[in-house]
Amino acid sequence: ATPTAIMVGVGKGAENNILIKDAESLELGYKVNAVVLDKTGTLTEGKPVVTDLHWLVSQDEASRLAAVLYALEAQSEHPLANAVTEHLKVNGGTPVRLDTFESVTGKGVTARYEGVTYLVGSRNLLAEHAISLPNELEQQALQLQNQAKTVIFFARTSPGGNVTPSLLALIAIADPVKVTSRQAVETLQRRGIDVYMLTGDNAQTAAAVAQQVGLAHYQAEVLPADKAGFVKKLQAEGRVVAMVGDGINDSQALAQADVSIAMGKGSDIAIDVAKMTLITSDLTSVPKALQLSKRTVQTIR
Ligand code: ADP
Ligand code: MG
Repeated sequence: ATPTAIMVGVGKGAENNILIKDAESLELGYKVNAVVLDKTGTLTEGKPVVTDLHWLVSQDEASRLAAVLYALEAQSEHPLANAVTEHLKVNGGTPVRLDTFESVTGKGVTARYEGVTYLVGSRNLLAEHAISLPNELEQQALQLQNQAKTVIFFARTSPGGNVTPSLLALIAIADPVKVTSRQAVETLQRRGIDVYMLTGDNAQTAAAVAQQVGLAHYQAEVLPADKAGFVKKLQAEGRVVAMVGDGINDSQALAQADVSIAMGKGSDIAIDVAKMTLITSDLTSVPKALQLSKRTVQTIR
């Protein structure tokens, strides 16, 4: 496209709350035939709220342990952690001072406190520490996940084996789908574009969200590097791929994609890496951006 067409395109983008950082994405957008969407914060509001906190210990112990859970999640920057700290602000007491803290990418966080290892996170994190889920809790978790809620677990174990590994609490967190997400997915699909969802979340929750937005293709429990790998795989099949994400965990995939789109409400890293930013974080701007590219390129023909 001519420099003038590009300038007009960038201006039209701005009018539609689409910030375009470089000309190349305007020139490529119309060729996109696969769109990869992150779930949390991209398809969903990204403002998760705790709906259930189910303690598996006595009430006394629960109020003592709440201060440990609070401390763990207060140190994490994950949106789920934010939901937990907001919840515990009300009745979680004062967070304890942890001895160590470690974040386990895509799985959760762990910390040492008074010689005991505490963990908050996914089923996979529990499994890594050889903590199993009783059947009854398994059923409860499934039921919550089928409501599109994310279930995380709080547990403790000890390196020396002097504390029996045990599950302390089950936490369910709801993060509603944005009202515009379904329409955005439909518009893209109507134009013959394949739409995929990738998430670090578990399979049941992913399936429930996919159904809510009308998506058939999704992958759950995807680690950040695998998100980039997924984009690469589509490209190897000859697809022109747009990646849309909001998180630090999306930045590798954004860098890999042909067209990269960040949410305006997303993390600074995602916005830095992406060539386009949707200022209002509304996904209906994705088909608009691709359409804008088409018009920009067509002006030279
Ligand atoms: P997404 O791709 O949906 O943004 P992430 O890769 O960031 O997901 O996280 C994947 C999973 O890891 C979450 O669904 C959750 O189970 C677990 N997790 C990660 N960080 C935390 C945390 N701070 N507290 C609890 N769970 C966490
Ligand atoms: Mg996200």
